Amino acid sequence: MKTSESEIIHIQQHAAEKYVNDIYETIKQRNPNENEFLQAVKEILDSLLPVFMKHPKYMENGILERITEPERLIIFRVPWVDDNGKVRVNRGFRVQFNSSIGPYKGGLRFHPTVNASIIKFLGFEQIFKNALTGLPIGGGKGGSDFDPKGKSDGEIMRFCQSFMTELCNYIGPDVDVPAGDIGVSAREIGYLFGQYKRIRGGYQAGVITGKGLAYGGSLTRKEATGYGTVYFVEEMLNNSGLTFKGSTVVVSGSGNVSIYAIEKAAQLGATVVACSDSNGYIYDPLGINLSTVKRLKEVERKRIKEYINVHPHAKYVEGCSNIWAIPCDIALPCATQNEIDINSAKLLIENGVKAIGEGANMPSTLEAIELFLQQKVLFGPGKAVNAGGVAVSALEMSQNSMRLSWTFEEVDEKLKEIMKNIYQKSVKCSEEFGHPNNLVVGANIAGFLTVAEAMLAHGII
Ligand code: GLU
Repeated sequence: MKTSESEIIHIQQHAAEKYVNDIYETIKQRNPNENEFLQAVKEILDSLLPVFMKHPKYMENGILERITEPERLIIFRVPWVDDNGKVRVNRGFRVQFNSSIGPYKGGLRFHPTVNASIIKFLGFEQIFKNALTGLPIGGGKGGSDFDPKGKSDGEIMRFCQSFMTELCNYIGPDVDVPAGDIGVSAREIGYLFGQYKRIRGGYQAGVITGKGLAYGGSLTRKEATGYGTVYFVEEMLNNSGLTFKGSTVVVSGSGNVSIYAIEKAAQLGATVVACSDSNGYIYDPLGINLSTVKRLKEVERKRIKEYINVHPHAKYVEGCSNIWAIPCDIALPCATQNEIDINSAKLLIENGVKAIGEGANMPSTLEAIELFLQQKVLFGPGKAVNAGGVAVSALEMSQNSMRLSWTFEEVDEKLKEIMKNIYQKSVKCSEEFGHPNNLVVGANIAGFLTVAEAMLAHGII
């Protein structure tokens, strides 16, 4: 009896593995050279094996074949005129990946590295992240290879206006709702919304989120991704008898996610000793002075190395990857994709790191994640940990629909509750599907099941 049961499991496993491997081969052929997209897909496919073993119905309905193919990918020209009167051309993108549980939702990234692979990996991640929030939002993402660094305010405005002149054909409060990401924050959102309003000739506040408070933004949206990251990690730590209080933390990046992760970690009693930008990192053993970082980054738009002019006891190091050589209890990668490779992971582990919380999207390579899990380092994957940003975006949409606004405390309370739920859902799924303590598997399965259920209900579309 025992043997035959294990034989059945073996056959089911073999069938699920073959199914997933065949699909991955097709995806590889169909999306050649899209390494970031393939990396994001591989992680999900590997996580889903136990689902297909337990529920073969998902194999029969082509859910995986459909969920890995965007519903739509829009690529467009963005012409604009620089301050010298020269015509410039950038490429704009919007991927509308999955609308099974709500309108496409996801940010816009303006960065020279943006291409179809980056936008597709981000849009694909967003499907599962958004489902994890428990709110009715589908998965989308967009952006441009435009580099905002060093551009004047007028250039930024003209670029945003040109970008929206084309994008407005494809979005709407019930269709697709963009927001910010790297290189797109309050200023850009303002210009994008202004142009949308002008072209549409109506006030549709819910067409974009991350808006300023003066015109339909939500309190706590600015803080949400960073705060949510820390709320999630605190849950994860508490579950193992640990806490932020008294711990040493390294946060990479110094953008919106990093700043508010630093703020909340410090409020919970941690000492955050380092942060970075794309040029290098600062190390301040006394704890980062956040008002200096906020002034440099949010107001003056300067480089992080200026920090040492104000705090000469701190150290600046050119180059970013060495930030992970700084000994810490908790690492919060909040900068960008693949910033923790296998070597950085080894360094973190050698120096005794206890927990990793991914504030950025896909900041750890697949090998790095495998090592963290193997070495029993607490690991919170990005699509669960950083979901607070998009969750509060969805709350911004709710407030816009109701034409009212909640207080900071109300939104913050809801955010805490959402992050707690995401953590619990991920733990529950990891246990139910035979991978206890593996939140990568848990979060991926929890997000997938929500979307798959809706896809099954809608028929083959
Ligand atoms: N760009 C953020 C993310 O990666 C936020 C998206 C949103 O608010 O729609 O989730």
